[in-house]
Amino acid sequence: MTEGLHPNLQPMFDAVLERNRGETEFHQAVYEVMLSLTPIAGQRDAYAQWSILKRICEPERQIIFRVPWVDDQGRVEINRGYRVEFNSALGPYKGGLRFHPSVNLSIIKFLGFEQTFKNSLTGMPIGGGKGGSDFDPKGRSDLEIMRFCQSFMTELYRHIGEYTDVPAGDIGVGGRELGYLFGQYKRITNRWESGVLTGKGLTWGGSQVRTEATGYGTVFFARDMLAEVGESFEDRRVVVSGAGNVAIYAVEKVHQLGGRVIAVSDSSGYVVDEAGIDLELLKDVKEVRRERLSAYAAQRTSARLVTDGSIWDVPCDVALPCATQNELPESGAKALLANGVRLVAEGANMPCTPEAIAIFQGARVLYAPGKASNAGGVATSALEMQQNASRDSWGFEETEAKLEEIMGEIHRTCVDTAEQYGSPGDYVVGANLAGYIKVADAMVAQGVI
Ligand code: GLU
Repeated sequence: MTEGLHPNLQPMFDAVLERNRGETEFHQAVYEVMLSLTPIAGQRDAYAQWSILKRICEPERQIIFRVPWVDDQGRVEINRGYRVEFNSALGPYKGGLRFHPSVNLSIIKFLGFEQTFKNSLTGMPIGGGKGGSDFDPKGRSDLEIMRFCQSFMTELYRHIGEYTDVPAGDIGVGGRELGYLFGQYKRITNRWESGVLTGKGLTWGGSQVRTEATGYGTVFFARDMLAEVGESFEDRRVVVSGAGNVAIYAVEKVHQLGGRVIAVSDSSGYVVDEAGIDLELLKDVKEVRRERLSAYAAQRTSARLVTDGSIWDVPCDVALPCATQNELPESGAKALLANGVRLVAEGANMPCTPEAIAIFQGARVLYAPGKASNAGGVATSALEMQQNASRDSWGFEETEAKLEEIMGEIHRTCVDTAEQYGSPGDYVVGANLAGYIKVADAMVAQGVI
């Protein structure tokens, strides 16, 4: 994973490997950004020099803590909690919490690193951070989830705050978990500090469109990419991996824009539904009943469940990976390419491996990295912070219009930056360079801290 780096950057990347041994996901995220710094790596200005990169690759603060809780059988359980406060050059640390058994320091650091540049790209005043736990919510009762969230917040509360660090949701953390987390923060601090968390419920400080924002934003971004080459979603066959919050609202927006989503997936397999995914049924199975996709297939005659193989084998024009990191490897990219895929836009964080990205770019498939295309979620979190700060709440249409405008601006920034640095059409270079330069500028201005 080191090929292609500029000779000035290679020793810097080697130092990151050495300093963060075994953290493969973190290495991958740093590698992708360093690869994009090639156009400025030979310059004498401060941007790509070690004095900045060295600090950008080192989180400002990393917190790891014990989360003890009692399950429904009265057994004491232990999980590990994390909050990595990566970079506050542009604003308070901002980024979600992930509850998933795969969570470890490498995963949280890669997410926090990505978040820093994503948040920079949104144009909003937010730094980067990420947190979570190796807690597995699957099969846990509501009360177990509540007890876990309360214990998690009993440590986290001392590290966060409206002006310090503002967590939100991610995989395994949605409206229910944020409610329990906010309640415990309020109880411990005796403060109604609505701006301390985003993704809150609509009746207690949440923002319209926050739930839909990541999925909607990804599709707005993909639509703008298609428009750039004179195309649209009309009658396009679309495959969306995942069946969580991001995927569900990506499906909804694709359908609103005239495309047809024919496959979605979860950890049990994928469903192919040539009649087009039935959104109401999908929402009922996943959001209300919290069941597997087999329940979707059982209720829909046009659908079939596939439990072996890969969703990327389903022929499509547009692929939106909206599940998790590294879910689209080289083999998936080759299969998509063989079936004539036109566009790949990431709704998840780092779903495509470096090998898959190289295949898409080599074949001139339109490809958008998550830090650009999935930035709508965190951008709407920043809109929630704005509403909280002014004790206001906006309507759905007004908020969606703001999201659409922000995604349009991020798209324009990526296109213009890529062009300016000699890589027209390269959204990876555009997103990474634009995100990086803004953070680096602010760090230079603020001195060595
Ligand atoms: N977890 C989301 C992301 O990956 C949203 C974070 C937030 O809203 O703070 O960007």
